Amino acid sequence: MKTITLNNPGEFSISDAAEPTEVPAGYALVRTRRVGICGTDWHAYHGRQPFFSYPRVLGHELGVEVVAVNDPSAEVKEGDKCSVEPYLNCGQCVACRRGKGNCCIDLKVLGVHADGGMRELIVVPTHKLHVSNKLSLDQLALVETLGIGCHAVARAQVERDEHVLVLGAGPIGLSVIPFVQAAGAIAVVADVSDSRLAFCRQHMNVKTTLDARGDLAEQLKQLPGGDLPTAIIDATGNPPSMMRCFDLLAHGGRIVYVGLFQGEVSFNDPNFHRRETTLLASRNALPGDFKRIIRLIEQGVVDTTPWITHRASASAFIETLPRWLTPDAGVIKAMIDFD
Ligand SMILES: [Zn+2]
Ligand SMILES: [Zn+2]
Repeated sequence: MKTITLNNPGEFSISDAAEPTEVPAGYALVRTRRVGICGTDWHAYHGRQPFFSYPRVLGHELGVEVVAVNDPSAEVKEGDKCSVEPYLNCGQCVACRRGKGNCCIDLKVLGVHADGGMRELIVVPTHKLHVSNKLSLDQLALVETLGIGCHAVARAQVERDEHVLVLGAGPIGLSVIPFVQAAGAIAVVADVSDSRLAFCRQHMNVKTTLDARGDLAEQLKQLPGGDLPTAIIDATGNPPSMMRCFDLLAHGGRIVYVGLFQGEVSFNDPNFHRRETTLLASRNALPGDFKRIIRLIEQGVVDTTPWITHRASASAFIETLPRWLTPDAGVIKAMIDFD
């Protein structure tokens, strides 16, 4: 079977590997049809992904078709189309016991810590498959991407009519916006890139965008009502942005860090306390997030049409990649077709 391997930073190869020969109990054999590429994959390619070892088969944003099932109690059956929840958790640790497998002590993400979906066939636990025979294969591959934003918005417990400031309009920020809107709240988006902000206004139904190069507190005070946002979701992974959140938040508000970086965050305690700030991290997504996203796409509440900007067949991926990496390529989501 066709398999794309990242051998070392900057070096992919395509090979013909042996197909899986057995499907263990509780598992399904699935055929990969779509693989979305995201920031994690770019970091691995550039050698900047922490705790990453080579060689590795990437691919954690997957639209698949079920080939065989070895699990009598499974919801999935042969021929079903599914999104894959790529977070392999132990099921035993304190987080797993409390229903938080997304932050399992021993979490292994398919395509990051374990070989993923950039190959024609993979074997996955049946309970990690989320079926929809209504969504397209592209949409199924986008569910994991959207899961990052869906989970962050759930962490913030966003309510109707509140103003939510989304910092950063890269793919993570874009994944946050539809779920803020689905909660009936108003998404205000800030970024340093004019073209990203224009994209939000044109394609994501965002009415208000702010220039993050300027004084954000001042711009926020000019908005109708004049109150600071009651929730801030930082999707930048940029330390100055993350530390600035504490000055931009309404009293009694919540901050969610969904973007991350390898370092320390500090803040002024009186500033934090005065507001009785709630500070939360958001990591990956839960099974319920996958189910909810599938339902919202099926119902037309979440529109996936703006997302996929670039695509290539599995055979053409390696030669196409350098074009996607140029700064003016404007990639939001690149998709690999395994057909
Ligand atoms: Zn991803
Ligand atoms: Zn666990």
